[in-house]
Amino acid sequence: MDLAKRSMYGPALRADELERLLGPEVPLLPLIHEAGQVREATFGNRVRVQILNNAQNARCPEDCGYCSQSAVSKAPLRPYAWKSRDELLAGAREAHAAGAYRYCIVASGRGPNERRIDELAETVREITREVPVKICVSVGLLDAEQARTLRDAGVDRLNHNLNTSERHTPEIVSTHTYADRIATLRAAQSVGLQACSGLIVGMGESDRDIVDVALELHNLEVPSIPVNFLIPIEGNALQADGTLTPERALRVLCMFRLANPKAEVRAAGGREGHLRSLEALALYPANSIFVEGYLTTRGRGAGATYRMIRDAGFVVERADGSIASWEELEVVDDYRVDGSLQILKPAVTAS
Ligand code: SF4
Repeated sequence: MDLAKRSMYGPALRADELERLLGPEVPLLPLIHEAGQVREATFGNRVRVQILNNAQNARCPEDCGYCSQSAVSKAPLRPYAWKSRDELLAGAREAHAAGAYRYCIVASGRGPNERRIDELAETVREITREVPVKICVSVGLLDAEQARTLRDAGVDRLNHNLNTSERHTPEIVSTHTYADRIATLRAAQSVGLQACSGLIVGMGESDRDIVDVALELHNLEVPSIPVNFLIPIEGNALQADGTLTPERALRVLCMFRLANPKAEVRAAGGREGHLRSLEALALYPANSIFVEGYLTTRGRGAGATYRMIRDAGFVVERADGSIASWEELEVVDDYRVDGSLQILKPAVTAS
């Protein structure tokens, strides 16, 4: 296999070659090794941890089939209005204290109005004055003027996921188009904001759909790619399509890394439930991860995630480029045998 060399120095892997990586004829461990070499060349053994803050939990008029906040979802929702500036600032402080490289402010809805953008910009200004953490915002469809306001306030990255290929998008949502999503990414880029955009795997898409998203993001020069795995929430229109196994989840991460050698690839929503006992292997293709859960579902907490990162031989990078110590992340060796556990006696050997 010369996948790592091809990925880093070209000629770039073609769509048919990338698609082959998702199938069983390419052995998994050598594939992870190739993707790991590319990850190491750009990011070493550093992991960037991100923490989400769901700034508003509310029914949204859009009909995205994977989303429990969508108008068409029957999932129970505990609605709350936009969090106050103080709450979002407190969240940023907590995220930094918990080791986050980046703090992501997310809100449901098709897109914000001008008043909301101005409020958000004020909040971001206050956070950047006080907390040394990078800030990403994900608030739906935006135009260039709105993106400029956020950039001027200190946002350096705007998230807007493609979620799936252009071909498959009508199966997922009808209230906006793939082109609307691309337009938001271009609006962000046009004012110098970095774009963050990824997908959700496990929504009935084909291998080719997944590859098309990887190549689209490469062509758009997106530097941050969250790879989500569908969390099947009862009541949502989209439920598990039966394709996701830990092996497939790893193959998708490897394919994204090899198609996008310089991008941050994030093992994002749903990694815990879909990668299961193979979760630590995701750190070889991916250099970024969420802790403390997602928008409406729980995920693994910081303590257990940091232990996994340390055990796998990786380190946690801070927003200023420094490495967090395990002490400050409160990672301790917690294996001890207490009196309530039976200590096994050595077998008696015959003399
Ligand atoms: S636009 Fe966002 S909040 Fe609204 S349904 Fe789609 S994913 Fe959910």
